Amino acid sequence: MDCVFCKIVAGELPARRVLEDPHVIAFADIHPQVPVHLLVIPRAHVTSLDGLDDELLAGKLLAAAARVAREAGLERGWRLIANNGDHGGQEVPHLHLHVVGGKRLGRMLPR
Ligand code: AMP
Ligand code: ZN
Repeated sequence: MDCVFCKIVAGELPARRVLEDPHVIAFADIHPQVPVHLLVIPRAHVTSLDGLDDELLAGKLLAAAARVAREAGLERGWRLIANNGDHGGQEVPHLHLHVVGGKRLGRMLPR
C-alpha cells in the first residue's frame, strides 16, 4: 500500500522510533511543531478514528501515548491531538495521535 506510515511500520522509511509493541509504534514527527512532537500509530493500516472499530487497539494507542509522554519527560503536561478527515486537517491517511508538549500550549478552544 502506498502509505507513508505503513512504510515506516515496515521499516521502508526511516523514523526516530520511541516505542514499539506488537500493535503500536511511536516515532518523532518529521516537522515538529513544538519541542516534543511524537506520533503514535497502529501497525495495522486504519485510515482515521472513523475506521477504528477495535476498542482494544484504541486503548493500546491511548496507553502508548501516555507512556511516550511520560518517557519524554512531559510531567508538566502535554496534549493529544487526532486530526480526522479533510475538515479535521488530516494530511496522512493512517490513524495517528500527536503527542505534543515541552512548552505551555495555547488554548485550542475558546472559553
Ligand atoms: P496530520 O495533519 O494530522 O495528518 O499530521 C501528519 C503529520 O505527519 C505531520 O505532523 C507531519 O509532519 C508528519 N509526517 C509526515 N511524514 C512523516 C514522516 N515520514 N516521518 C515522520 N512524520 C511525518
Ligand atoms: Zn498505512
